[in-house]
Amino acid sequence: MLFKELAQYFQRVEETTSRLEMADLLRELLQSAEAGEVDKVVYLTLGELMPSFRGVEFGVSEKLLMDALSKACGIKVKQVEELYKKRGDLGLVAQEIVRWQGRELQLLQVYAELSEIALSRGTLEKVMGLVNLLKGLSGFEAKYAVRIVLGKLRLGVGDATVIEALSMLSGDRSVKPLVERAYNLCSDLGLVARRIKEGGAKALEDFRVQVGYPIRMALAERVASAQEVVERLNRCAVEAKYDGLRLQVHREGEKVEIYSRNLERVTGMFPEIVRAVLQEVGAQSFILEGEAVALDEETGDFHPFQVLMQRKRKHNVEEYAREYPIKLFCFDLLFLQGEDYTLKPFIQRREKLQELIKEGNTLRLSQMLLTDSVEEVESFFQEVVSQGLEGIMAKRLDAPYTAGARNFNWIKLKCSYRGTLADTVDVVVVGYYYGRGARARLGIGGLLVALYDPHTDTFKTVSKVGSGFTEEEWIRLREMLQPHRLSCKHPRVDSLMEVDVWVEPKYVITVNADEITRSPLHTAGRSPQEPGYALRFPRAVSFVREDKNPEDATTVEELIRLYQLQKKVSTQWWRREDSNLRPETYEISALTS
Ligand code: ATP
Repeated sequence: MLFKELAQYFQRVEETTSRLEMADLLRELLQSAEAGEVDKVVYLTLGELMPSFRGVEFGVSEKLLMDALSKACGIKVKQVEELYKKRGDLGLVAQEIVRWQGRELQLLQVYAELSEIALSRGTLEKVMGLVNLLKGLSGFEAKYAVRIVLGKLRLGVGDATVIEALSMLSGDRSVKPLVERAYNLCSDLGLVARRIKEGGAKALEDFRVQVGYPIRMALAERVASAQEVVERLNRCAVEAKYDGLRLQVHREGEKVEIYSRNLERVTGMFPEIVRAVLQEVGAQSFILEGEAVALDEETGDFHPFQVLMQRKRKHNVEEYAREYPIKLFCFDLLFLQGEDYTLKPFIQRREKLQELIKEGNTLRLSQMLLTDSVEEVESFFQEVVSQGLEGIMAKRLDAPYTAGARNFNWIKLKCSYRGTLADTVDVVVVGYYYGRGARARLGIGGLLVALYDPHTDTFKTVSKVGSGFTEEEWIRLREMLQPHRLSCKHPRVDSLMEVDVWVEPKYVITVNADEITRSPLHTAGRSPQEPGYALRFPRAVSFVREDKNPEDATTVEELIRLYQLQKKVSTQWWRREDSNLRPETYEISALTS
């Protein structure tokens, strides 16, 4: 396949707003690619070189790219800058100033050159690589290559749309669950595409977990009371819910890799976990999951979540790790010595985990109780809350590990921090307002935020958020959003609201609200007959959730369930006069996902 053909498809995808048409165009594109090309087609369509868990980045700034454009086209950097100011998109600038026909490069060659640029270390090497590439491309092709390199392809295609296209490719759409399952087990849509190309839907039936490919994490539903936990699960495992960073640890021989909640490779952040896993687990090949928490050794209290995330920006992680040592509370086993454990019942996985882990300085097992008694669940809840923990996780004993799904196999019951009917919802920032008065001085005073809708693979607005951040945080947020500013609404954002600045849906924040209401202003849950849903008096409760991707935000469906739960709980608790738990004990609206 020629790179030109890929670029032509990109243009067609860009021009459509219909999801179905988009998926069908992608299907056509995937069909025309060879088996050896199809994975690269998938990655490039998603604006990447490899699945994001590989952590490969181009490391090319706009400045560097303008330098390369100026060298390749023989015009002054100043002229490129001026054109950029006018067009607001370096892809369009490239299309305008690359005047030659190009060498009709193969997709695989362009991919190889792009990889070389990403892998080269020095600035000069990167510029030379870019110049070389641009010289072989036509203006039309250069537009898309430049956008890919800058991480600004923005075709409006997310993983869910690619899954749709892959289902169509593998025959009929009834195979979609198989495609989803394969994706949930490896998080690599390129690999799934290759399997389909090589062996059709049949190849997906035999798809198995592999060490080195992160499994999309199983998530929990929420209920209103301990009683409902027992009603739904009967005899179950009740565990402490630690408020830290969820980690998935992969070991094959001496090689260990660690992935975060959004499947980012974070191995370098946790050297002590790597050491502990090599020493304190009695197996050579496995995948386990746990929650990492920083512990204050003097007081025995847990440090806030941010303390863990700060490791990301530390050069000397070992030193920081000595200052803030962590524990990994292990709670699940997903693979062991060639055997896929995701299919086994929870209780078997847990028993094996207990056998494997020699609890040491860093690895611990999560605190757990097996019970079918409401009273025991309630007192366990009280006990862990008094230890300063978030609440409890209850797990169905006979359930497999449902990768990538949120369901009642796992149930969370969280403590409300504010003693109000506090809703926490994870929302994606899609735009912002300059604000008035003192805020206007900061250049940012409010956010427009959205939920994720997996059915349409879009982000639907649910609220404006104007409080909860300190002045310093507003400034930091504005700086973080700066490189993601857009001249118009992102193609995956569905909004009736206007903003001062649109941004790429990238950052997730957790917000609290007094209640969920119906509103004609927002698109979350809106239909031709009914208004959307909105958050009343929302306020941010944490800074940017770096462990979440935009697609990990609360979904529209979850918010609707929460809306129903909110109505149910607000009456239910007040009727339970016999309860020694006050209504605010449970955070019934904890929609953090
Ligand atoms: P949250 O924002 O509440 O952490 P989440 O979206 O990351 O939510 P949920 O399904 O809502 O995921 O809650 C499960 C989360 O709770 C897990 O992702 C994990 O990080 C954390 N957790 C803490 N303790 C446990 C435990 N014992 N078992 C499973 N998950 C646990």
